[in-house]
Amino acid sequence: MNILVVEDERNLADAICRILEDAGYNAEACYDGSSGLLSAESGLFDAVVLDVMLPRMSGTELVHELRRQRNPIPVLMLTARTSTTDKVSGLDAGADDYMTKPFEAPELLARLRALTRRQGEVVLDEVGFADLTLDLATHDLRCADRSVHLSGKEFEVLRMLMSSTARVVSKQDLLTRVWGTDGDTSENSVEAYISFLRKKLNHLKSKVQITTLRMLGYRLEVLSA
Ligand code: CA
Repeated sequence: MNILVVEDERNLADAICRILEDAGYNAEACYDGSSGLLSAESGLFDAVVLDVMLPRMSGTELVHELRRQRNPIPVLMLTARTSTTDKVSGLDAGADDYMTKPFEAPELLARLRALTRRQGEVVLDEVGFADLTLDLATHDLRCADRSVHLSGKEFEVLRMLMSSTARVVSKQDLLTRVWGTDGDTSENSVEAYISFLRKKLNHLKSKVQITTLRMLGYRLEVLSA
């Protein structure tokens, strides 16, 4: 599921994207209202997390414009704690829910789940990329009628690659996010797990391959037939 984050405070926008990606969503940030509107209209996103105070076009104007176009995309607004009028005008303009800043990650995820569920969508229990489906509960990776079970670390590494398909994931990112600050782990472990995953992708006969970009990291790519 793809979530658009429109927030002009870059640190906050990036932090929200990270929370969402850790939960298995794809997330992309826009830092002003008018580019946020263009992205929201693109049809590429399943929900929007939208700040109110934005340069070029406010969050309230943005959601108003979406609803004027009869665009039903679920919108979760982020409002400042002090402003009741933001909440009222945001909801009046057509936002589905609002959340007061600052907020905790679990609340953001719970509200997003509720929003996307209300849309009649399946609750996020798997992530997909090209011909692959990764079950977040059982750690099974499927491709057509084949399936393999992933070990804990394999699962974490692949989930991170699958939720960041728009960018390259560095070995250091993988080390920090999958192994945490465990000092004993080296980049060799990352390479080992990438090699396990490649064998499994091969076994599944998936069109997806893990490409190594020298000095940069890894990215999932789809082999053309
Ligand atoms: Ca703002």
